[in-house]
Amino acid sequence: MPDNLPESLVAIRNDANHFINEVLRPLERDLEGSEGVPQAVQEQVRQASREAGFFYKTQPAEYGGNPAGPLELTMLRETWAAANCRLTQFVFGPGPGILHAAEGDMKKNYLDPVMRGDKRGAFGFTEPDTATRPSWAKIEGESLLVNGQKSYVTGGATADFVSVLVNVEHEDGSKAGTAMVIVDREAEGVKVEREFSSMEGGGHVSMSFEDVRIPLTNIIGELGEGMPRALGNIGNVRMMVSAQAVGMCIWTLEFIEKHLLAPHRTGTPLGEREGVRLRFADMRIDTYVARSALYRTARLAETGDNIVNETIATKVFCTETAGQVIDMGVQLVGGQGLVRGHPLEKLYREVRSLRLVEGASDLLRINLVKGRLELEKGRI
Ligand SMILES: Cc1cc2nc3c(=O)[nH]c(=O)nc-3n(C[C@H](O)[C@H](O)[C@H](O)COP(=O)(O)OP(=O)(O)OC[C@H]3O[C@@H](n4cnc5c(N)ncnc54)[C@H](O)[C@@H]3O)c2cc1C
Repeated sequence: MPDNLPESLVAIRNDANHFINEVLRPLERDLEGSEGVPQAVQEQVRQASREAGFFYKTQPAEYGGNPAGPLELTMLRETWAAANCRLTQFVFGPGPGILHAAEGDMKKNYLDPVMRGDKRGAFGFTEPDTATRPSWAKIEGESLLVNGQKSYVTGGATADFVSVLVNVEHEDGSKAGTAMVIVDREAEGVKVEREFSSMEGGGHVSMSFEDVRIPLTNIIGELGEGMPRALGNIGNVRMMVSAQAVGMCIWTLEFIEKHLLAPHRTGTPLGEREGVRLRFADMRIDTYVARSALYRTARLAETGDNIVNETIATKVFCTETAGQVIDMGVQLVGGQGLVRGHPLEKLYREVRSLRLVEGASDLLRINLVKGRLELEKGRI
């Protein structure tokens, strides 16, 4: 439980809150009334984060990092999200993600530049509904010829390369399994079909590949292990999303508490009405349970056990809960909560995507039961 964190982690959480109040809030105040975050401010946050040591928490030791364990990362991510501050996204340094085990040319050409901050990758997994065939690649000598399409590549407009899931065929047409391959965005045959943004403000592209030639050395890991590679880091990402969702709930509860105690035009604060108290009670109960699940799973992650099933349960519960809590937050604030620029209006848009990213809730439910019935996985 968050209550029983070791003293060392409590001290780090205090430092994180100090960093938010003393470094991020003043910078955020200067940005009031504007959208986005200028590059110079992003760099200011990164520099301050390096000095405070948070920047290195997501980076391996061989890159000068000081990687935090799952519990510490969960605690910090929850703290950043509970601040509801647009600058927290720049606090952690780039992590290796799917490239974590890269060696040789892949390390030199992609992982090292990513860790230095010189290159940025995107992730191409989702296929368009209109696809007649999932993206594929054919082996030709020492190359792969990549064809197909990806429909939702976040940051694809500015990324230097995309890690793409493909089905691979040998030269004779026989199947070689799936692979994650690196495709340079500027390579011949790569086309950005459409740029679009989603309601929470993210920028994405759909892209197509037509006979894009890449070296065999651009296969991440082994041929045939594309799907496990693509999903290899997903447990960590689902924990990240869960921590974010719980942090959003915490911010909302604090905001609503003030709102319920504040004067209301009827002459008595809203918090004096029993019906309003019932709604607020549910928001607090749901957040309490979600937060308990989050920290229990983070502690299980510390043991190194297989927690795929528990992480799915946590991600579905925390994100669905955050959706309900923020929705009720808007309801209790009333019309002002929907006015553009109101913090709840922004949060309402942000939380919606969490139930789709890194696995839509119903698909995760299906995977959870598959893990139980076919592999006997999952604690209660
Ligand atoms: C903000 C954002 C960022 C994203 N970034 C990326 C990215 O960088 N790279 C990337 O590859 N993708 C990205 N995605 C795409 C995301 O991974 C997909 O939207 C998500 O996995 C759902 O896939 P889909 O949109 O194809 O929906 P579908 O798979 O078509 O599913 C739509 C709905 O149908 C239902 N459904 C589908 N199949 C089943 C089933 N078997 N059983 C029961 N119900 C089912 C579910 O309700 C599901 O939510 C992003 C999405 C968002 C919103």
